Amino acid sequence: MAVVAVQCPECGSREVVRYGRQANGEQRYRCNNVDCARRIFLLQYHHTGRLPEVKRQIVDMALNGSGIRDTARVLGVSSMTVMSTLKKKRQRCIR
Ligand SMILES: [Zn+2]
Repeated sequence: MAVVAVQCPECGSREVVRYGRQANGEQRYRCNNVDCARRIFLLQYHHTGRLPEVKRQIVDMALNGSGIRDTARVLGVSSMTVMSTLKKKRQRCIR
């Protein structure tokens, strides 16, 4: 049996447990680090807009003055993904 070391993509913690499955049967994981902003993640994402590094790029581009459609075109995600990511990050900043 091969052992796969799973790491949280947000905080890098190895305190990760298996946490059920997606509707398509893929394994879902949960980060047990209480300070982590992200709790549930997958090992491989099919949609690039779900990747933490793409979400980080969306915020970076917004801070550098790129518009929503600029960002969507450059990163290859939809403008709705850009908007919802920015809205979620904004909520986290207010709290
Ligand atoms: Zn984490």
